[in-house]
Amino acid sequence: MPLVPETIEIRLPKSKIAGNAIAIKWSNSRETAHSSFTLRMGCPCAACQKLHDPNPNVVRGPTGVSPRVEVISFDWVGNYALNFLFNDGHNSGIYNYNRILELDESTNGV
Ligand SMILES: [Zn+2]
Repeated sequence: MPLVPETIEIRLPKSKIAGNAIAIKWSNSRETAHSSFTLRMGCPCAACQKLHDPNPNVVRGPTGVSPRVEVISFDWVGNYALNFLFNDGHNSGIYNYNRILELDESTNGV
């Protein structure tokens, strides 16, 4: 059985210098935690990943993101992904569950 999220919680910021965090409990009881900043920086959308730029040396990933960026809300996408709305207005990223698990920061005290 592939892992699926069972509960998703938006946590308040722990400090004034960071945004909020997302805590997810998965179907095998694993728990992961994700700072909004890391989720935002890991946005897989075509614009953030600059997929239309043929230059192989271009830096992939969004630029100019505030370390205090926050997740405002999320949506389920089919049964394979989540979509996050950030307070910088960005919401084009479809984060499949494997991508979210890759971005786990639970051992970093998030
Ligand atoms: Zn994006």
